[in-house]
Amino acid sequence: MRLSGVAGHKRLTALISRAIDRDTLPPTLLFAGPSGVGKWLVAQATAQAVNCLEPVRNGREDLPIDACGTCRACDRMARGVHVDVIAIEPDERGSIKIDVVRDVLSRTGFRPFEGKRRAVLVREADTLEPAAQNALLKSLEEPPPGTMFILTTAVPGVLLPTVRSRCMRLRFGRLTAAEVAAVLVRDHGLTDAEARVAAPLADGSVGQALALSDTDLTAMRDSAMLLLQRTSGRSDVQARLQAATDLVGQKSQERDRGQLAVVLRLAASMLRDIEAINAGADARVLANPQLTGDLSALARAFAGDRARSAFGAVDRALTALDRNAGTKVVAEWLAVQL
Ligand SMILES: [Zn+2]
Repeated sequence: MRLSGVAGHKRLTALISRAIDRDTLPPTLLFAGPSGVGKWLVAQATAQAVNCLEPVRNGREDLPIDACGTCRACDRMARGVHVDVIAIEPDERGSIKIDVVRDVLSRTGFRPFEGKRRAVLVREADTLEPAAQNALLKSLEEPPPGTMFILTTAVPGVLLPTVRSRCMRLRFGRLTAAEVAAVLVRDHGLTDAEARVAAPLADGSVGQALALSDTDLTAMRDSAMLLLQRTSGRSDVQARLQAATDLVGQKSQERDRGQLAVVLRLAASMLRDIEAINAGADARVLANPQLTGDLSALARAFAGDRARSAFGAVDRALTALDRNAGTKVVAEWLAVQL
């Protein structure tokens, strides 16, 4: 992956490229941010830009230097077999053991074999066992000559404070829905139509978009539609609270915050469609064209400003979830507001 091929994160890739160009890239970096937004790809692209044999310098202010993508070193890095780019990833039990770290560190005692700067990349660094973090600590304090470390994590708070404080932290944000959709099509073989459905639901994370399998989506879409149907009439509070309970799910299969958020984003996109139908829009412009019949049936109940104010309520519910409000509280509040 070249820095120029990274979706989103333009400010960060520019920062990294300029630092490589000026030879001021810190030897220990921590990439922190939501999972599935591309931290690992940027870590790989950084290692590649550093170790490319024929780096491209095209005078671009945003990316003064980038890997060529075609030289022998780039080819090896793309295939994951470059000896100086070492990836440490969680094992099948989801942790990184001290032996793995020790083994890698023993290799950093030598100068890079074929590259310019050895890069040790640690994926999901929060899964490093405490002993493994301590083993890494000395190398982070005094990186061996010619070696750099990049740790990536969605939960930097889990790392030992001593490890965190040794690394310069770059904060990764979420991607836009358009960026997620573009990556789904370019790198994961989804059709435009599939990407358009998944991207707005994925909260700026390609990983989340890919995790939304078709079955999940169907069940979640059904739940969102049911919520709107059951709150569309002037039903009493009791019925609305029941709708909230069904929305969150029964005890053993309760939806977590992320899943409830997807259902709410689906409900929001349906409310947008209802607004469009009420405004006389063509079914072809709807985000959920397959639901035109159900949505049209709801249009009268959500006439006037109601669809818009319901959309606002869903939006506030999503904000509350983002701030760690409980799923049940949010669902009940929303069911009464709609
Ligand atoms: Zn190259």
